[in-house]
Amino acid sequence: MENLSEIKSAYESSILSTYARYQVAFARGEGCKLFDTEGKAYIDFAAGVAVNSVGHSHPKWVAAVCEQAAQLAHVSNLYYTEPGAILAQRLCKLSGLGSNKDGKDGKDGKSGVFFCNSGAEAVEGVIKTARKYSHDKYGAGRHTIITLEDSFHGRLGASLKATGQPKFHKEYFAPFMEGFRYVPANDFAALEAQGKSGDVCALLIEPIQGEGGIIPLCEDYVKKAAAFCAKNDWLLICDEVQTGIGRTGEWFGFQNYGVMPDAVTVAKGIAGGLPLGGFIVGEKLRDTLGAGDHGSTYGGNPLCCAAALAVLDILEPILPDVKNNGAYMREKIAEMNLPCVSEIRGRGLMIGVKMKDVAHTEVVAKLLAAGLVALPAGADVLRFLPPLVISRAEIDAGLAILEKTLKP
Ligand SMILES: *Cc1c(COP(=O)(O)O)cnc(C)c1O
Repeated sequence: MENLSEIKSAYESSILSTYARYQVAFARGEGCKLFDTEGKAYIDFAAGVAVNSVGHSHPKWVAAVCEQAAQLAHVSNLYYTEPGAILAQRLCKLSGLGSNKDGKDGKDGKSGVFFCNSGAEAVEGVIKTARKYSHDKYGAGRHTIITLEDSFHGRLGASLKATGQPKFHKEYFAPFMEGFRYVPANDFAALEAQGKSGDVCALLIEPIQGEGGIIPLCEDYVKKAAAFCAKNDWLLICDEVQTGIGRTGEWFGFQNYGVMPDAVTVAKGIAGGLPLGGFIVGEKLRDTLGAGDHGSTYGGNPLCCAAALAVLDILEPILPDVKNNGAYMREKIAEMNLPCVSEIRGRGLMIGVKMKDVAHTEVVAKLLAAGLVALPAGADVLRFLPPLVISRAEIDAGLAILEKTLKP
């Protein structure tokens, strides 16, 4: 198979049509560039939906993956392996979830990690954990998870119902898992009102709503919500599948808000392109799950964990650049004064450009044809999630395509 039409017809004959795909077949990636089967180059402002955080074929990432693949890729969770152990310690430390007053020590046993393979699985696992915590302490019935309208948490059982967008809850998938209620984002009174029913065990939030349209939560709201959760012993869970692992310029999105959640989920960018997800819990949930309560065959295998360790090493020195480059991108887009842009928002390299008078999906297709890979989000937002290693020169090259394409 050499070209788009051959690959496309194989898809049509053999792959289920669950995606409306753009008319490009990518063959190769290098840094923040992608190349299609015809050899045409593109600037990547999507990073495989926030996955290729260290770009494509980063030499350190490739070396780590090849070395680990040659040594040991997988043995299952019936045995111990080293890469997952090191990765879990680093995640505990970076999240600060187990930190006591004297600092962030991931080795103190006050926080812990469960590894799985994707974002939805991470959300499923953390929901089980939250419900068991509440059941152990308060008995049956206190199982409701509050999530936000326009949220996105995945497409499986619990994570699908946790997603606060009715368009995902198609009647032909019924019956759905029970025990979810939704409140509008940034509306503290609506959250408080949920306290009356006495059946709530957790609040699940994305610090910046990603798929919903790059909608950052307000600092005041997050602080009040965190205090309200703590007071009522509702678990505060941050879904950091999109915002985590450096995307906002902090290791985790919640770290922009000065709050400490009880649990956070991770996936997407953590292993730079290999499937890895997980959730990190703090002291409250540290011993909630016991042997047999949860599991995953692949979860946290040495190959994916070695990739993730390389990602953390590459990102560590460049996190400040993520913040600066994000601010630079937002500023440059604003300076273009594009008539089809009504708002620019986001943090770090998670950027939403709200469109007016033109369909966001149409803009994404036009940009792609012009050599810039971007993403749609929500109903009308153009979303940029470039690799976190992107340079100013590559940002400028991508923005030049944006300006040329959207300038009337
Ligand atoms: C993408 C995403 C998910 C789902 O991740 P998958 O790996 O596709 O299952 C869950 N939560 C958030 C916030 C996401 O952005």
